[in-house]
Amino acid sequence: MYVYLNDRIVQRREAVVSVFDHGFLYGDGVYETMRAYDDVVFMLDEHINRLQSSASMIGLALPMDTGRMKAAIYDILGANSLKNAYVRLTVSRGYGPIGLDPSLCQVPTFVILAEEMKDYPRSFYDKGVRAIISRVRRTPSVAINPRIKSLNFLNNILAKIDANDVGAYEAIMLNMAGHIAEGTISNVFFVRDGIVCTPDTGCGILDGITRNIVLKLARKEGMMVMEGEFTTDDIYAATEVFVTNTTMEVMPIRQIDAVLYEVGNVGKFLRGLYREDVRAYVKNIKDHGPSIWEHE
Ligand code: PMP
Repeated sequence: MYVYLNDRIVQRREAVVSVFDHGFLYGDGVYETMRAYDDVVFMLDEHINRLQSSASMIGLALPMDTGRMKAAIYDILGANSLKNAYVRLTVSRGYGPIGLDPSLCQVPTFVILAEEMKDYPRSFYDKGVRAIISRVRRTPSVAINPRIKSLNFLNNILAKIDANDVGAYEAIMLNMAGHIAEGTISNVFFVRDGIVCTPDTGCGILDGITRNIVLKLARKEGMMVMEGEFTTDDIYAATEVFVTNTTMEVMPIRQIDAVLYEVGNVGKFLRGLYREDVRAYVKNIKDHGPSIWEHE
């Protein structure tokens, strides 16, 4: 297995970063998780744009331009002969003396990991997974803007520990106002009175790329969609619940706390539309040339 480290491809065992790296010392950095389907990285531009926006919100200059980053992603997929892959691009503040001050670091550390995409168990989609409403609140936007996809995951990890404690898979966090925010690694949707509901971005959530596709597809189908502020009572009263992210796509929730849900038709339908959207995207890239970055 090969890893992209800074400006070159290295063997996995050589892919090491200094203990003085501020990503390691302070969680100072940003990242993106992407998924490649059949040799094509889905929504590559959107992920790169979000990475740039995360980096700019923490005052981090990316060490390479967009075109080179995209080429690097495809290079590492090629080096590992991967068609269907999990891709993680991490940029940390880099090596520097001890001290929080970002100006201590001269050069960001740039890493791309690509691994064979291991599908989630079928039962996760057929039966749904269990979630809880976590006691851990989502960090408010005025403290750390959740739109920054940062290496600082302790807030989400604390919520995940809450879920682990009761054998649940995902933890849904509320914001400081007590409204539903998001999962530890996912955005949350539920269906109530036939309306597809999801917290709006003002609730202090990551602006999920999968979330936006699902919203677009639901609206295109003429479904009733509501982005807003919702309480735990709203989600407990839902007929179905599902979560979204790049690797899980659209995954049903079968239980939140003591409330059980069906794996309902709305989620199944949206998952089908999402997968169709992925296929169309992949076909479009393949039909229009060998490499997406050549079409900018
Ligand atoms: N919220 C959080 C906190 C996440 O970590 C993720 C996964 N990146 C998401 C939502 C879903 O985002 P996306 O659909 O862009 O993968």
